[in-house]
Amino acid sequence: MHPPELRDQAIAMHGNGVPFRVISQSLGLSEHTVKSWLYGERARRMREHAPRRRCPRCADPPRPLEDPESYSYLLGLYLGDGYLVTTARIPVLRVACTAAYPHLIDLCEAAMRAVLAKNVQRVQQPGCVSVQSYSMHWPCLFPQHGPGRKHLRPIALADWQEPIVDAHAGAFVRGLFHSDGCRTTNRVTVSGRTYQYPRYMFFNESADIIGLCGRSLDRLGIEWRMSRRNTLSVAKRAAVARLDEFVGPKT
Ligand SMILES: [Zn+2]
Repeated sequence: MHPPELRDQAIAMHGNGVPFRVISQSLGLSEHTVKSWLYGERARRMREHAPRRRCPRCADPPRPLEDPESYSYLLGLYLGDGYLVTTARIPVLRVACTAAYPHLIDLCEAAMRAVLAKNVQRVQQPGCVSVQSYSMHWPCLFPQHGPGRKHLRPIALADWQEPIVDAHAGAFVRGLFHSDGCRTTNRVTVSGRTYQYPRYMFFNESADIIGLCGRSLDRLGIEWRMSRRNTLSVAKRAAVARLDEFVGPKT
């Protein structure tokens, strides 16, 4: 006899889309046992009574998000360099990640799963990996979608998004810098001594998105300035150190 908690855990993992082999390996069970549980009478009853995972924005009234921190990060990734295709039968959220930063690819996938996704695909392209997920409800969560490029239309947060981004400003700027920013180190040699000046830059053609980035940096007490029309820069030593708490080098 296996303890009932183990069976519940296997059923819960199955509900989250974890494959049989992974469930059986991680719980130390045979695949036969896992299958018998998942398709048994008790599993059927649990499925019927389990709350269905519905979109928090489609609930009436809308529910708070389960993981607002991950949402704020994913919103930053989406506004930075993401794309929400709503013309297909099922909308797809796509974030292009540079192949050189596998950790960022993992973070992006984890955020999509924490917010809404049951399945996430990684599409390999030259030099980059598109992390994508199909769901009818991405447009509910990212009402900033619309026809045309993001910088050619106004981008503003919805009333329900503002308190989330304010409460999780660090995660929001992490998403923005991870998708459309960088942390570079300038090296200057004076009289044989080398000085290093790390700094952050965030590039975006949308003045609205740059404005949202600046607003969150203000909230975190991080000094910034515009170094070019489309480039926000964080260069003062204390500001860089503070932003390192939330972003750090890409890996
Ligand atoms: Zn919805």
